[in-house]
Amino acid sequence: MIPYGRQDISEDDIRAVEAVLRSDFLTQGPAIPAFEAAIAARSGAGHAVAVNSATSALHIACMALELGPGDLLWTVPNTFVASANVGLYCGAEVDFVDIDPATYLMCPMALEAKLAQAKRAGLLPKVIIPVHFAGQAADMVRIGSLARAHGIRVIEDASHAIGASYQGVPVGACPHSDITVFSFHPVKIITTAEGGCATTNDLELARRMMLARSHGVTRDIAQMQAAEGQGGWYYEQISLGYNYRMTDIQAALGLSQMARLDAFLSRRHELARRYDSLLADLPLVRPVQCPQGYSALHLYPVQVDDRTRVFAALRGAGIGVNVHYIPVHTHPFWRARGFDWGDFPVAEGFYNRAISLPLHTRLTEDEQDQVVAALRAALQA
Ligand SMILES: *Cc1c(COP(=O)(O)O)cnc(C)c1O
Repeated sequence: MIPYGRQDISEDDIRAVEAVLRSDFLTQGPAIPAFEAAIAARSGAGHAVAVNSATSALHIACMALELGPGDLLWTVPNTFVASANVGLYCGAEVDFVDIDPATYLMCPMALEAKLAQAKRAGLLPKVIIPVHFAGQAADMVRIGSLARAHGIRVIEDASHAIGASYQGVPVGACPHSDITVFSFHPVKIITTAEGGCATTNDLELARRMMLARSHGVTRDIAQMQAAEGQGGWYYEQISLGYNYRMTDIQAALGLSQMARLDAFLSRRHELARRYDSLLADLPLVRPVQCPQGYSALHLYPVQVDDRTRVFAALRGAGIGVNVHYIPVHTHPFWRARGFDWGDFPVAEGFYNRAISLPLHTRLTEDEQDQVVAALRAALQA
């Protein structure tokens, strides 16, 4: 089976992990700040906080923004369930904003209309999470200015988008948001096996996220109440936190992968351009690339008629296609919370015709030709 996505591990990556295994610290050691510094440098953000998954990063981001009971979080239906679940972790309510039919990203017009309605009803969200689906940045200028106008905080779910840029600025620099979150799951752009990171330019938000990832415990005298007269053992718990720490083993892998990020991105772009031309004469819709951005190209989603049959034909031919995403609000859990099919028709229409073709750095041109041949046969059957 040709997988839709997979990790790319080099001998250098393996040596980096091995070096940590032979060192004094498997966790809470020097590899974490080194990895965080690499992410901050690459994204141009002031601070980076590495954790054990993007889900954890989204959770501590919401905590830092003080999302809680009585608050509302909005995200898009066209995402992985974690983007919505984190609102419930904080005791907030969750709602969705439909996507743009051309880009599959949060639709600023739908957001504007929903905000106007929510304002009249006195039910504005506290936090909005646009998702950089497939590696392409959402329309952050419009989303950010709508959010600012209503006093709403913004977290960019850039799980697909490390290395992407928007209007010439790296995703993660947060010019239009409070916090950006990356994922390092093996199918994403770089990997730490499991792992994630939050970036921000706000020192106070970074400080809160660092507390939240490690039990709410601090060893920073400036943050303590009773530092005077205590010994070297002393620490204080000053808030409620979790154990969301990344290990040094993962951070070393991540740091080694960061050195390969540009090579990964250009290979993904090469393969995507190749799909663009190989698929040009087929009856399907190829993903559009927004001119104001450079996508990390996590996914190559096409839209086809008769998706379920085409999907089965491709899987039958050994092509590991996938579908991103079943709209979050249509899952049984969310329907039990009052949502239903029909609530977000653009995301549902996209889903009904979506197939993600294999796209990863180890995909060969031969394999890509097999994918295209199988797709051509399925569409002509
Ligand atoms: C992968 C993903 C997540 C969750 O990432 P983990 O690191 O697996 O927790 C969240 N949002 C989106 C859009 C994702 O693709």
